[in-house]
Amino acid sequence: MGVSAEYETYLQSRVWRQKSTLKIVLDGGLNALEMLYWHDTGRFMPSTRIRCEQCEYRYKRRLINVHHLHYRNIFHEKREDLAVLCEGCHSICHGKAAPMWWHLVQAGQLDPEQLANNVVPIAVAVEEAFAVYELTGPDRRMSG
Ligand SMILES: [Zn+2]
Ligand SMILES: [Zn+2]
Repeated sequence: MGVSAEYETYLQSRVWRQKSTLKIVLDGGLNALEMLYWHDTGRFMPSTRIRCEQCEYRYKRRLINVHHLHYRNIFHEKREDLAVLCEGCHSICHGKAAPMWWHLVQAGQLDPEQLANNVVPIAVAVEEAFAVYELTGPDRRMSG
């Protein structure tokens, strides 16, 4: 098994799931009550919003990724080798374009809470996308 295939398998493993969850619990901006709830139930409170270490907005768990800052300790990462990032900031870290909702959130035009229920008002999103485009310029997409 090559390193890449091994890494892909690792990302699907129970070990990584536990490790990345622990990283979120420690560095995702949870308060004491939320940590206690996680400790007791193994779940995040429905109301828990996790803070992206890059943009510092808070998002529901499904919009949060745990990113490797480097691969020196791959398969036995320490807390400081990892970062709690929202999907948009994570895309940018990997040289990919961030999704439109992320640009709207960063521009203060969309409350991340609206994303929690997968409700992005489409008319507003399209209309305001132009404003964001003016603000930030086009996404610089990388090939591949
Ligand atoms: Zn972010
Ligand atoms: Zn990453």
